[in-house]
Amino acid sequence: MSYRMRTILRGAFGRCAHCGANGVFASYGTLHERCPSCGYLFEREEGYWLGAMIANICVTEALFGVFFVAGMLLTWPDVPWTGLLIGGLVINAVIPVLYYPISKTQWVGLHLAFVRPDPVEEADMIAAKAASQAREAEQRAPDAASG
Ligand SMILES: [Zn+2]
Repeated sequence: MSYRMRTILRGAFGRCAHCGANGVFASYGTLHERCPSCGYLFEREEGYWLGAMIANICVTEALFGVFFVAGMLLTWPDVPWTGLLIGGLVINAVIPVLYYPISKTQWVGLHLAFVRPDPVEEADMIAAKAASQAREAEQRAPDAASG
């Protein structure tokens, strides 16, 4: 499997698109600043998640379109307009919330599919991971780590 396909699939399953690790969410819809496993920086710049919002809107409207057209075609000529309206409202209210966390990891996967980390960023990831491991070690054994 190609690198691009791998990053996109990892993101689509809510994993770190770079290393494939689980546990990238700090809470529902909120990614850790960096991947706890590889140190990849998730929030790249101000406005980075605009792409995730666009993906969320596209998925929601695609599902709504399929629901609406299939509902019309399957029930023609006695289309239950009220049912389609209620179903459409539910889809447009629920799908963005359910898809929100995955839209972020998927956006990271799409980003990584086209922009691989350069050597400077790879070094930054290694340094961030080492700092994180040192903090964890200090929390586990504060006396031993401090001297
Ligand atoms: Zn990772």
